[in-house]
Amino acid sequence: MSVENLVIIGSGPAGYTAALYAARANIQPLCIEGYQSGGLLMLTSDVENFPGFPEGIQGPELMTKFRKQAERFGTRFIQKNVTRVDLKSTPHKVFIENEEILAKSVILSTGAATKWLGLPSESRLLGKGVSSCATCDGAFFKGARLVVVGGGDSAMEEANFLTRFASEVTLVHRRDSFRASKIMQDRVRNNPKIKIVYDTGVEEVLGDNGVEGARVRNLKTGVTSVIPCEGFFVAIGHEPNTTFLKGQVELDDKGYIILKKRPYTYTSVPGVFAAGDVQDTIYRQAVTAAASGCQAAIDAEKYLEGLH
Ligand code: NAP
Repeated sequence: MSVENLVIIGSGPAGYTAALYAARANIQPLCIEGYQSGGLLMLTSDVENFPGFPEGIQGPELMTKFRKQAERFGTRFIQKNVTRVDLKSTPHKVFIENEEILAKSVILSTGAATKWLGLPSESRLLGKGVSSCATCDGAFFKGARLVVVGGGDSAMEEANFLTRFASEVTLVHRRDSFRASKIMQDRVRNNPKIKIVYDTGVEEVLGDNGVEGARVRNLKTGVTSVIPCEGFFVAIGHEPNTTFLKGQVELDDKGYIILKKRPYTYTSVPGVFAAGDVQDTIYRQAVTAAASGCQAAIDAEKYLEGLH
């Protein structure tokens, strides 16, 4: 059975950049993209802060360009999910269902997935008015009243974007200040269609077959009230996609991969590197993910050289 030089698991800015660098270094990488290739930027609308695009660019278009650039230098792609890995064996084993792929080195760049509030009513009404993706679902809510939950850049972006369709957007945040960047906060505050409700938690999404409102509680006064709405968007951050890595590489208590030798991208397992949101608890930007993908490819290249 042949052994791959480098298998890259994941296909956001980190994975595609690692693929580009590894392909140009003639390592002939295999990139396992997942069924939903392209990562979180596929769910984003305008990307205004990726250098090189002064007018901004749509997230999916940016990721298509990343992929094409990696492909141009010979990256091979598989559009399936990795189901299991055995990183303790040499060579490392990567499984796609029953198919086994052997690899001298691996880059983990599986990114992060949407975090939910964890309310039973939220999962019951998912796809029936509850969503985590304004770009995907915003157009279904023309003229509707919407609630967006969260206080980071994602929540600001979603709230603003949704005012293209909605009659009004209520932004519900659990504290009295946002953690979002100032420019994003200013856009929200200056948008006449957005109403901000601070210090408030959501107790239940109301409705039987569609969203009819959100029951919320003021966390300072304890007073509950209902915000009538037809759509409910959750934008409270993300969790690393590392379930399949438990027991394989060292993870922190939130599931992020621990890098062993910063600024390098080494994980706890020799020959296994990590890049992008899957190991980043601080920056989590497309440009920083891309940069760490580049670093991981260079680290993998050096590691492979050392094997010979
Ligand atoms: P984030 O910065 O982690 O913010 C998550 C927000 O959700 C926080 O305000 C947090 O509240 C709140 N939250 C978390 N768990 C909650 C819960 N269980 N119930 C209620 N509220 C909860 O996540 P993000 O907004 O997705 O951003 C992630 C990264 O991507 C950031 O680095 C951000 O700058 C970047 N990003 C950038 C852009 C852009 O520049 N265009 C757009 C999107 C994202 P607390 O504040 O109280 O903790």
